[in-house]
Amino acid sequence: MDLNDSLAKFREQFIFPTNADGEVQVYLCGNSLGLQPKSAKKALENELEDWAKWGVEGHFHGKKPWFHYHKFLTDYTAEIAGAKPHEVVVMNHLTVNLHLLMFSFYRPTFVFNPESGKNEPKRYKIIMEAGAFPSDMYAVQTQVESFGLNYDDAVIELAPREGEYTLRTEDILQAIQTAGDSLALSFFSGVQYYTGQLFNMPAITEAAHKVGALAGFDLAHTAGNIDLQLHNWDVDFAAWCSYKYLNSGPGNVSGVYIHEKHGLNPETPRMAGWWGHKEDVRFLMKRGYIPEPGAAGWQMSNAPVFGMAVHLASLEIFHEAKIANLRKKSQSLTSYLEFVLLDVKSQNQHLQFEIITPSNPDERGAQLSILTNQNGKALFDHLFNNNIIADWREPNVIRMAPAPLYNSYQDIHALGEACLNFKP
Ligand SMILES: *Cc1c(COP(=O)(O)O)cnc(C)c1O
Repeated sequence: MDLNDSLAKFREQFIFPTNADGEVQVYLCGNSLGLQPKSAKKALENELEDWAKWGVEGHFHGKKPWFHYHKFLTDYTAEIAGAKPHEVVVMNHLTVNLHLLMFSFYRPTFVFNPESGKNEPKRYKIIMEAGAFPSDMYAVQTQVESFGLNYDDAVIELAPREGEYTLRTEDILQAIQTAGDSLALSFFSGVQYYTGQLFNMPAITEAAHKVGALAGFDLAHTAGNIDLQLHNWDVDFAAWCSYKYLNSGPGNVSGVYIHEKHGLNPETPRMAGWWGHKEDVRFLMKRGYIPEPGAAGWQMSNAPVFGMAVHLASLEIFHEAKIANLRKKSQSLTSYLEFVLLDVKSQNQHLQFEIITPSNPDERGAQLSILTNQNGKALFDHLFNNNIIADWREPNVIRMAPAPLYNSYQDIHALGEACLNFKP
């Protein structure tokens, strides 16, 4: 399989961590922190050199003048998002961007009730998956509370059916329909960080629009993993980080998508800063905010060039490999992982786990999550001692994510061998 893999050559472009004996590790943790592209160091050095050489003039001189730096990332980011270039921008960090986007797209309405003498919320609910990533829960909580709303009333957390681990699309669509005109926003992840489930984004978006709500997605575990078509799916907004599947380094910048129907409308509310101001008059330093058209009009601060340089180096690799090709390999690689896990489980009685990620390749990305019994931590440690880096999530889940850019079928095979030797 590796010999026939046209993407296998990209593995050489990444640096793999080694253990204490200098042995290269099997890295299945790209869903958490992607590996470093070899090109990252030079990209960062270039900016340090330009800073040394040019000082402030580096904004207009040097290899990639900083004044326009965010634009060097636009076309590649649009490819990752499946969007038009003016629908994307790279800025800030993920949770910061979620707040900025909710400021724009979560606008609960209130009507005066003469009987109670109070303003009462009308269209104000947010629907999301139960057990969402904590940052998303906290962001949503503080957003609804900023309007004087109560989390338990304003937020619909959708949980799987009794005895099931993932949500059924039909149940999501039904819940959106039931929320009806009380629903302001549907806010799901693309790929769920814990279960690995890929939500049906076009169907969720369509259902939200049908009841007059907007649809936004947190694509932290989705960008660089799934071949997104955000524009064609009519998604209103989305944001993602660059350090998981996008391999751009710890805590690095975030990508944002805003559909052009909102982005090109200067009336769309937003939190503004000087970098989103119309570029040709940005330096006139005048009062009165005039947004750049598109997602660029949501920028607040000038571009953090060092982080963006690394992100750009990584996006160049995605551009070359092409996200559709990566998705195809990813489906095959993850199916092989599923096959190997089930095979070794049938051979080693000590292996007691259940794969909770959907078995249908169209309902998952590059990650499988296994729900373990009380031996779970021992299995995780055993894998670690056998040079295999997976990822432990409390209370009892091991996540494994073969990244199609740099993982091989042999990596999966090595995992299988290690599992066969497991004895708690
Ligand atoms: C990783 C992740 C985050 C992290 O947010 P940062 O602001 O980049 O720290 C947020 N939400 C989800 C769903 C994630 O998977």
